[in-house]
Amino acid sequence: MLPLDKFREKLLAARRDMFQQAARTEDDLLWLETDVESEVEERGQEEGMKQFLDRLDTHLKSEIEAVDKALAKIGAGRYGHCEACGHEIPASRLEALPAAAWCLPCAQAREAHEARRK
Ligand SMILES: [Zn+2]
Repeated sequence: MLPLDKFREKLLAARRDMFQQAARTEDDLLWLETDVESEVEERGQEEGMKQFLDRLDTHLKSEIEAVDKALAKIGAGRYGHCEACGHEIPASRLEALPAAAWCLPCAQAREAHEARRK
């Protein structure tokens, strides 16, 4: 059984860091002062979130989206399962990459696939 609370905390901390990194305007900072944890669950904040994400560079944006997805999976009780093959992702991999959506073999296969496309 994975220590979900620990991973949840790690993910929320990572999310906070990324937002702080991304905040450039006063509006962003104001927005950041609202509780990030409730942002994930409250739909009313989605518009502000969307506008904020639209201004981010794609790399940071995809990282934040991966973290949000992982948090949603914790909420749904599906955290730690590979999205490609459905197998459990080893805890050691999640320790290093809490937002990992794939197990290592699937992530490598995906990377190889992407590399071939370039
Ligand atoms: Zn897999």
